[in-house]
Amino acid sequence: MKGIDWANLSFGYMKTDYNVRIYYRNEQWGEMELCSEETIPMHMAATALHYGQEAFEGLKAFRGKDGKVRIFRLEENAARLQATSRGILMPELPTERFREAVLKAVKLNERFIPPYESGASLYIRPLLIGTSAQVGVHPASEYLFLIFVTPVGPYFKGGFATNPYVIIREFDRSAPLGTGTYKVGGNYAASLRANKKAHDLGYSSEFYLDAKEKKYIDECGAANFFGIRDNTYITPKSTSILPSITNKSLMQLAEDMGLKVECRPVPEEELNLFEEAGACGTAAVISPIERIDDVETGKSYVIAKDGKPGPISTKLYNKLRGIQYGDEPDVHGWVTILE
Ligand SMILES: *Cc1c(COP(=O)(O)O)cnc(C)c1O
Repeated sequence: MKGIDWANLSFGYMKTDYNVRIYYRNEQWGEMELCSEETIPMHMAATALHYGQEAFEGLKAFRGKDGKVRIFRLEENAARLQATSRGILMPELPTERFREAVLKAVKLNERFIPPYESGASLYIRPLLIGTSAQVGVHPASEYLFLIFVTPVGPYFKGGFATNPYVIIREFDRSAPLGTGTYKVGGNYAASLRANKKAHDLGYSSEFYLDAKEKKYIDECGAANFFGIRDNTYITPKSTSILPSITNKSLMQLAEDMGLKVECRPVPEEELNLFEEAGACGTAAVISPIERIDDVETGKSYVIAKDGKPGPISTKLYNKLRGIQYGDEPDVHGWVTILE
């Protein structure tokens, strides 16, 4: 499409042509509707507005060298939205309906899918909200599922590079038996102050320790954490982190490359032992970690001694991006090609 500077897009919102919507009423999901309106008419007492009955997802479509459009692991996003729905008492949208809606939203906005060379992609944002009125705290009886898409630029404008991160002990993102494993807006509201503090101090993002003991690494802002040592890919096991689909994919790729994979509690002191570490999620795939400062205790864990991304992180990053853009074979069946 003319007029869009693909390589310099930020991770922001740009209006596209259509969004798709499915309403849940009378205990059933209706037909998919196509819409060019960006706003939502909603009751002022909707449960999404008052009691946080809101869930979202995030995935991407990529245009390959061969011109084909590939959508990454959409069934996993459907399953995670269903898990979130169970977690906050919303109806589950069947995987097949989710899939149809994603494909339709991408197809209708095909002219916004960035070209291969730009390194940009089309971000897909599904949303599920309780729309009917409640004043007492109860789940809604009516819901709206919608998907909008927006083109986003390459995460690393100056190339794959490391960044500094900071442990914030002052705030918790989620409790051990709370909603941390669900992709709900409430967790993000709880993270805004910590995130602002990290940025104000000059860091890329904030790290959370487990809320109960403040001993173990939980996750990093809106990304999961992994560390590499002794040919092993290590990622925290916790009841308060969001199960990242990028992390799940990297664990598989690490195993394919002959690394051992461990999912277990990661004590803060272990940060001293990692040869490489990264934050992982759909936005960046991997954001390599230069160092993690614990500002309240004055400790600093320098991971990338030379300041550069490590060889295993680089290999994992290139492999996953290769699968997404169609440059590498999709041996695990992770990609859906848009017809
Ligand atoms: C979405 C999200 C992630 C990353 O998940 P991906 O499926 O890899 O994009 C990590 N942590 C939190 C809190 C998230 O909301």
